[in-house]
Amino acid sequence: MKLRFLGAAKQVTGSMYMLQLDSGYTILVDCGMDYEVKKNPVEKPNLFPFEPVDIDLVLLTHAHIDHSGNLPALVHQGFSKHICCTPATAELTEYLLYDSANIQFHEYRKSLGRSKKTRRDQIPKPLFSEKNVKQTVEQFLTITLNKDYKVNEQVSIKFLEAGHLLGAASIEITITENNKTTRIGFSGDLGRSNSKLVKNGEIFENVDYLITESTYGGRKHIVTQSAEDELMHYIQKTCVEFRGRLVIPAFSVGRTQAIVFTINQLKKRGLIPDWLKVFVDSPLAIKSTPVYERHNYLLNQEAHDFMNQYGSLFKFEGIEYLEGMDEHDELMNYYDPCIIISAAGMVEGGRIQEHVSNNIENPYSTILIAGFCAEGTLGHRLLQGQSSIRIKNKEKNVYAQIAKTDVFSSHPDHDEVFGYIHKTAVNSKANGKGLQKVFLVHGEEPQLLAMQKSVLEDGLTTAVIPSMEEEIIL
Ligand SMILES: [Zn+2]
Repeated sequence: MKLRFLGAAKQVTGSMYMLQLDSGYTILVDCGMDYEVKKNPVEKPNLFPFEPVDIDLVLLTHAHIDHSGNLPALVHQGFSKHICCTPATAELTEYLLYDSANIQFHEYRKSLGRSKKTRRDQIPKPLFSEKNVKQTVEQFLTITLNKDYKVNEQVSIKFLEAGHLLGAASIEITITENNKTTRIGFSGDLGRSNSKLVKNGEIFENVDYLITESTYGGRKHIVTQSAEDELMHYIQKTCVEFRGRLVIPAFSVGRTQAIVFTINQLKKRGLIPDWLKVFVDSPLAIKSTPVYERHNYLLNQEAHDFMNQYGSLFKFEGIEYLEGMDEHDELMNYYDPCIIISAAGMVEGGRIQEHVSNNIENPYSTILIAGFCAEGTLGHRLLQGQSSIRIKNKEKNVYAQIAKTDVFSSHPDHDEVFGYIHKTAVNSKANGKGLQKVFLVHGEEPQLLAMQKSVLEDGLTTAVIPSMEEEIIL
């Protein structure tokens, strides 16, 4: 069989891998949007280096757009078979894909409005429409964790908890061909141990090959205190002592729920004053938060203990979820101390831009970056300590406090990913032939090289860094 690396090779986004059996049966694992290509669309005009109609099965690890975002385009271009994922992933992906279709449509309309008539046909059209999303959702086939599913005589699959996001899974594929059985593990995106809300990830029992993320290879998360203590520090300093506003850019799915739950925990401990309001300004967060409640069997012990004692994880006195633009506009004119959680996490687009713009020149406000910010994004520029930034077409001085926290990171750091590979190798040796090879993906090259070095020094298996469109015979 052939394993092809069609995305997230020597880069973070655009996860997409293909397994092609000798019989011709073809499986695609993830079909994510590639932000690097989005920046340079001319370099890679074809979204798929294959015919979508030739794919027999898609396996989706989790809902994040860099893993799911090209599915409607795949369907639009002729893929008509099943997309297997967990029930929670199916629900979250549906919301994220509709949101993505909507963003693309509005960006396209905006570009059309700005360009000269003669150049309008050069503006890249949206990759897909809401109609394509509807069709994609109809092709979802939901399957539960920890259960073996026989796809056909040659292929069986099993999804394991990944600990990264509600519903996120690592996927084990067992292939039998030419009288040989080969087990391949795709980590998907992994999570940190003891994350807020989600359970810890599981390790494969026995795989011959492992394809694993290494987003934070060579890096260590700086976490010196609990999420509650860390967040309370910023709330106390900004909202209580300075009477200012704490603005937290956060992804609507995952990060927002973790932060709201942490504030709820602080509230129940009596640490948050009654007068302090919390605003969640994100329609997508309003849609996705009930998914956490519907699939609460996926939540960890801490969340269950809290639910048993207090009921809701995400609703409490003083929190307001804002959906419409009128509510958003009202908040823009609210000048009392408060906490504002809004998307997008990297401060690129979305309602958060207006909140950052509104608070950036206020020395009593704090902008707390709670996640990864890719180079070139506004979040990244803020973290570099620039004294002025261009936002909403205006140059503004940075007088607000800019802070960063790693406590809500949803990706493991170097030591945690290395531990995951090491344990997979130990398990696979105890239960089978041993882990033959690790393929390091979903990371920039320096991060992948740092991880490769650790794995090679460990000596239990070997590690390679595949290039984009590299093809390997297993
Ligand atoms: Zn992810």
